Amino acid sequence: MTQNHYNVIIVGGGVSGAALYYELGEYTNAKKICLLEKYESLSVLNSSGSANSQTLHCGDIETNYTLEKARKVTRTAKMIEKYCLQHGYENKIMFSHQKMAIGVGYDEAKFIRQRYEEFKSLYDYLEFYDKKKIAEIEPALVYDADGNERREDIVGMGAQGEWTTVDFKALSDSFIDNTLKKEDKITDIFFNSEVKYIQKLGSIFHLETTKGAHFTADYVVVNAGAHSLYLAHKMGYGHQYATLPIAGSFYVSTKKILKGKVYMVQNPKLPFAALHGDPDVLLNGYTRFGPTALVLPKLERFHGNTTIIDFFKTLRLDLHIFKIFYDLLKDTDIRNYIFRNFLFEIPYFNKKFFIKDARKIVPSLQEEDIKYAKGFGGVRPQVLDKENEKLMLGEASINTGEGIVFNMTPSPGATSCLGNALRDVQALSKYLGLEFDEKRFINELTDDNKE
Ligand SMILES: Cc1cc2nc3c(=O)[nH]c(=O)nc-3n(C[C@H](O)[C@H](O)[C@H](O)COP(=O)(O)OP(=O)(O)OC[C@H]3O[C@@H](n4cnc5c(N)ncnc54)[C@H](O)[C@@H]3O)c2cc1C
Repeated sequence: MTQNHYNVIIVGGGVSGAALYYELGEYTNAKKICLLEKYESLSVLNSSGSANSQTLHCGDIETNYTLEKARKVTRTAKMIEKYCLQHGYENKIMFSHQKMAIGVGYDEAKFIRQRYEEFKSLYDYLEFYDKKKIAEIEPALVYDADGNERREDIVGMGAQGEWTTVDFKALSDSFIDNTLKKEDKITDIFFNSEVKYIQKLGSIFHLETTKGAHFTADYVVVNAGAHSLYLAHKMGYGHQYATLPIAGSFYVSTKKILKGKVYMVQNPKLPFAALHGDPDVLLNGYTRFGPTALVLPKLERFHGNTTIIDFFKTLRLDLHIFKIFYDLLKDTDIRNYIFRNFLFEIPYFNKKFFIKDARKIVPSLQEEDIKYAKGFGGVRPQVLDKENEKLMLGEASINTGEGIVFNMTPSPGATSCLGNALRDVQALSKYLGLEFDEKRFINELTDDNKE
């Protein structure tokens, strides 16, 4: 075997790759693990603090989640919470804000009331807020620019004192730092190492970077974000899927406006969460409004245009794709949504249009209170399922069963990082015959054994 041979190679150093690296180092007996990252440091794309909304998605205020999905995400969110508590990362990596989902007007208020009744069994800390209570704890939601109470009814469901917010880039760094401390293992990381080819010869995977470096492994997990499917297609896997990159941008306030996270009721027809307001932990708690949702023909933002070609290669335009687009565009709500989100990106017009939507959260909001957050945001690699001719809303994973896995991670992929890594560690331990101390994992990072 060559010096560059590993039990497992992870491709991609975002929060998903870093979480898997940590679980392999901490809970398995894998002796040689390696992470290959295209850029010069960890989490420069979607997992960076400015790319996402920093929300630990527990499912309690995300009105686009069903109870079943909420149950699932709350388990994986708990893993991050427990990991951070275990290492003393409170108020360094993980932060607490109040949070709520609001319903504005008769119909939405009714919806929130019903949802609160349904969801409080899953979240014992969940509270219901009427207009008076909201005026007390989040006054910006209730008063207009003249200081008058907004006329429509407004109610909320939410919590105070929960862990709500994570700097996912700092979380990624911590996963790696804690793994590098392991003295009984070889834990390598190579930056500026973009994997160009992966090939399986016999039972061994051969990986080559654009700079000509060569690595081999018994097992490979591709956590390359929007490029996971690109690499899968190159190897002949996952042709039933395509990627539709949906860019999300933000507007940031010029003063502190909200005390906590405020989400809105989701239009069930729309594929992405309604815009929300969040205190940004990297911007001194100033409010970040967003994200917007814009179809962008490239797999990465803010890194030139080379990924435009990768986008078309991953789309593999055919009649199935046209059918998915046709079905989406024939719906007036979705058409208007796409058009509005396009306007949110056009200089001069963007703020004027965006503020109209954001005033549903903060009625007193003025144009001078927010600015387009330049360089913020990322790309959600939404998966198109060609076989069923549908836009898939969540994450997807292709486990080939042949020693290589490809993970596609749109939202809430950062919250799910330890949960997704658990799934991959279970599969790869079985495949490679490695020991995985699942009992300790479950005890330390979940509430599964709690009465
Ligand atoms: C606008 C927006 C808001 C969001 N808000 C939230 C939120 O509030 N909460 C939440 O949980 N999730 C949120 N998400 C989703 C979340 O950001 C992602 O799911 C998560 O960051 C994905 O992490 P990842 O490691 O899988 O991918 P990425 O962070 O994209 O990392 C992939 C890595 O792979 C590397 N790479 C790519 N190709 C190669 C290659 N060929 N060789 C080597 N390396 C390669 C890249 O350089 C990158 O470092 C949001 C996403 C967006 C866009």
